[in-house]
Amino acid sequence: MISVDIDLLKLNDLMEADQQISHIGKIEAVENRLNAIRELDDVYLKVRTLINYGKELYAVGKNEAAREIASEMYQVTSQGSFNELHMLCCNLLGNISARKGFYAMALDYYHQSLHMIETHTLRTHYRSMLINNIASLYASLKLYDSAVKYYLDALPLAIQEGNYDAQFLIHYNLGDIYARQRQSEKLAETEQILMQMTQSTCQENFYLGLYRLVAAKHARINGETGIAEALLASTLKIEEDPVTRLECYIEKALCAYAEKHYDLALHDAKLALAQVNEAGEFEFEREVLQMLCDIAIAMGNAEITASYQQILIALDETFIARMNEMTIFQIREKSAVKIENRLNENAVNLLKNMQMIYDISQEITKEQDYDKIFRLIIQKLVSFLNFDALVIGLYNDEKRVIYNRMMYHRQEISKSYDVYLDNKSSLATWCIRHKQEIYTGFNSHLTLKDFEPLQMNFPDLEVPYESVFYLPLYDEENIIGVFSLQKFERDGFDHYELEMIRTIGAYIAIAIANALKTQELKRLNSALEALSRRDNLSGLANRHALNEDLKTYFAPASRKQRISVIMIDIDYFKEFNDRYGHLEGDMVIRKTSEIIQRHIEDLDARAYRYGGDEFLILAREVSFDIIEMVCEMIQRDIRMLSIRHDDSNIDGIVTLSIGIASYEDEYLEAGEDVLLKGADSAVYDAKGNSRNCIAHAMYQKKSIDK
Ligand code: GH3
Ligand code: MG
Repeated sequence: MISVDIDLLKLNDLMEADQQISHIGKIEAVENRLNAIRELDDVYLKVRTLINYGKELYAVGKNEAAREIASEMYQVTSQGSFNELHMLCCNLLGNISARKGFYAMALDYYHQSLHMIETHTLRTHYRSMLINNIASLYASLKLYDSAVKYYLDALPLAIQEGNYDAQFLIHYNLGDIYARQRQSEKLAETEQILMQMTQSTCQENFYLGLYRLVAAKHARINGETGIAEALLASTLKIEEDPVTRLECYIEKALCAYAEKHYDLALHDAKLALAQVNEAGEFEFEREVLQMLCDIAIAMGNAEITASYQQILIALDETFIARMNEMTIFQIREKSAVKIENRLNENAVNLLKNMQMIYDISQEITKEQDYDKIFRLIIQKLVSFLNFDALVIGLYNDEKRVIYNRMMYHRQEISKSYDVYLDNKSSLATWCIRHKQEIYTGFNSHLTLKDFEPLQMNFPDLEVPYESVFYLPLYDEENIIGVFSLQKFERDGFDHYELEMIRTIGAYIAIAIANALKTQELKRLNSALEALSRRDNLSGLANRHALNEDLKTYFAPASRKQRISVIMIDIDYFKEFNDRYGHLEGDMVIRKTSEIIQRHIEDLDARAYRYGGDEFLILAREVSFDIIEMVCEMIQRDIRMLSIRHDDSNIDGIVTLSIGIASYEDEYLEAGEDVLLKGADSAVYDAKGNSRNCIAHAMYQKKSIDK
């Protein structure tokens, strides 16, 4: 037993310190001894080893296994005897939640960890790590200002703690944000720092990949995609870490996209999507899918765009559904654990908050009515947050306008007119223009006096709020709206509440983005459908459309008294193609289509390309005389074009043969097949009758049985 213990101590040291050993190696080392570990009498050693094991599982993307171990250890350590281990557990659960996109829950875990450090005077070694993790949460929520602020808070702590890894990661994370914000100068500084740090350590493998990744981003932003691609290629050759590899593929796709090599970008983004499954990152999955949509849009491929957009929406929907499950999971977890009062209060709020977000998201995705969505958000929010006013507006970047702006104030909802982004007397536009949140309370350098006079924000309302919190709502890197909570009293929201509001805002953003995407998808789908119902060459409806129309035309509910079918076929078209070539043949098909379309425009009729050189017209309630006349005009017009056709024995020009079948009343019950056959045999008659003529197959009342 003792030898196992010594072994394990060494193993723990390796896991905690040595970056030279791969994650997989560490996992295998634990798994080989798992039974012995589970039987250990030394609970501290056992728990410490298992938490480290959980961390390694997390590192290689095995989220579910990591969560199981971490939850188990959370329970074991919650009795108060291993505070430090409990704190590490909370952090790990926070990381896992964040990776799955459960940001509210992650935030709560990180706060529990911080709280443990503060109340139990634990080694301060971990503060920088936790602040870094909270910062990363903000980065995931696209709240880059808050993220940068937290990273910059974490940095001196990491230096103070002598935590080299944390310092490196914080700089790396800052670099990632600077790259997203295209802040080339700051990115250059960060790259420099990372390079020096990489050179002055022996743990080269671990740092090198991340350093190169930042260098590649910098090169791309400066337009040097060749350099970026070389850096990425050399990193992918040696890098084992699944998340770093994933980021390399994303970066490669971004480079190809910047160069407008869309096929290549699509290829790399698909590799990234495959890698997402390895790494199990929700946030990256969204990011990669969004990128695939962007690439498909740039390629002008509506079909691929729609398919990826559909996956994206489905992803968000399952994500929202899973939030509910997680809420229940956490209720169980928390009820099993004795926690301090303030934390308990926060946890209760968190649960309400998550339940609310779940409800809102569910409703929003179902609800296209914006007023109802707004009411729902208010109804849910008032039940657990104290505020006096709430504002939400949607933002259209193309038109640079905030629309659908609604305010809840003194129990009443008022809707205001749209405001344009250059409007200087609106806090909402300030927030969007500066891509920054506004808070006019404690720990904020802003007060309302910093803003230009806000006379007209909401007309007829004086705005006596001392605490105003405005938050931009993001979908990926794009702002899609603003969300605001306001209070009469000064310093109205405490730190924890502000963080919760930010998180809620991010969820509301996802839900709204989702609703907007669903609308967009509907639009795309109907455009696609229109496309798939049209024949490319002729511009007429295609056979697929014909089949659908026939179904409605013959449905008893919509059936009219008379339906006519006209079938039109080009004479000796095969010979035309053989002599003049396919391109010339195509031209004849287009001309014929134009003529047909022109002559049916004013009728209740539609024309289709039925097959190669065959066209079909369906007409309803058009008298026989008019049908006859239309056919004659079509024939005449094509002849008048005098398209030369030396292999035709009809004046050496292109001509048409036409068959008409007209059906009336109860004969229609025989259905569409009979109708089409009738028209077909009429064309056959016309062809037999030396072509360039019209033949009839008429079926009228009482002539059925003939
Ligand atoms: P008929 O007078 O009896 O109708 O003789 P035809 O040669 O017109 O009839 P057939 O059905 O034998 O040939 C139709 C030709 O139409 C064969 C094919 O090469 C041509 N065709 C079919 N689709 C297209 C197309 O999209 N473009 C071109 N240029 N030709 C096509
Ligand atoms: Mg033909």
